[in-house]
Amino acid sequence: MAEKDLEKRKNELSDLEKHVILYKGTERPFTGKYYNHFSPGIYKCKLCGTPLYKSEFKFDSGCGWPSFDDELPGAVTKKLDADGIRTEITCTNCGAHLGHVFYGEGFTQKNVRHCVNSISLEFEDYESSLTEFANNLETAIFAGGCFWGVEHYFQNIKGVISTEVGYTGGYLENPTYKQVGYENTGHAEAVKVVFDNSIVSFEDLCKIFFEIHDPEQINRQGPDVGEQYRSEIFYTTEEQKIISEKLIAILISKGFNVATKLTPAGAFYPAEDYHQKYYQKTGKLPYCHFYQKKF
Ligand SMILES: [Zn+2]
Repeated sequence: MAEKDLEKRKNELSDLEKHVILYKGTERPFTGKYYNHFSPGIYKCKLCGTPLYKSEFKFDSGCGWPSFDDELPGAVTKKLDADGIRTEITCTNCGAHLGHVFYGEGFTQKNVRHCVNSISLEFEDYESSLTEFANNLETAIFAGGCFWGVEHYFQNIKGVISTEVGYTGGYLENPTYKQVGYENTGHAEAVKVVFDNSIVSFEDLCKIFFEIHDPEQINRQGPDVGEQYRSEIFYTTEEQKIISEKLIAILISKGFNVATKLTPAGAFYPAEDYHQKYYQKTGKLPYCHFYQKKF
């Protein structure tokens, strides 16, 4: 952004935005737009629009401000405050005040917390984002028994941006859990996984899929019996189909009698809210899925 445009943008800021972004103020905790916001996308600098953080870096620290444990390379500049205690973070491109960075608090493995004012940020979801980051996004859809258990294993894999449980592969539009369980809808319980393929590949995810369920079982998975619990990959690209076929051939060569079907992805109907992130919400552990190394 040219100097002239930047000056214009500064003048357009609201008083509160000026207070934080230009004069290094702090918004009150639990009042900002993004402290409790966890959709997949990019957080950009409010003043100049430069991408600063990806949603994969975001975590809930409970402090009332958006917290990130990493930044996009070079996007954020760190400088010791005048008081010599805290470290200020600013947008490298335009100098906008973001907040402060803290180390060694133990919140995440990276052990860093960028504590950022919501008002210094502008969120853009990946799908409408025209930034380079959107180009690495890919979707995979796996059915392998009760979707609670399948989602449990996928949701925390590095590079996985979002998971959602739902119904697919059948013919009834907008089915309910009850209909899928008791009526002949043709649907499978499935998990839609959106991932950044520059961090984790479809092949990696597909291997995990085969290792967390038993692909030899037909129309059931452990104690769950019924067509909705079948093993099936709903591929979204031809490449995914080829990789799936390759992995199935490897499993067959190892003596597994694989029953997994390969089908082009069609309509995916998200399941009811109470099924989403079920084990995370309830603190329980899957009864139906176990990890077993197969590759
Ligand atoms: Zn900026």
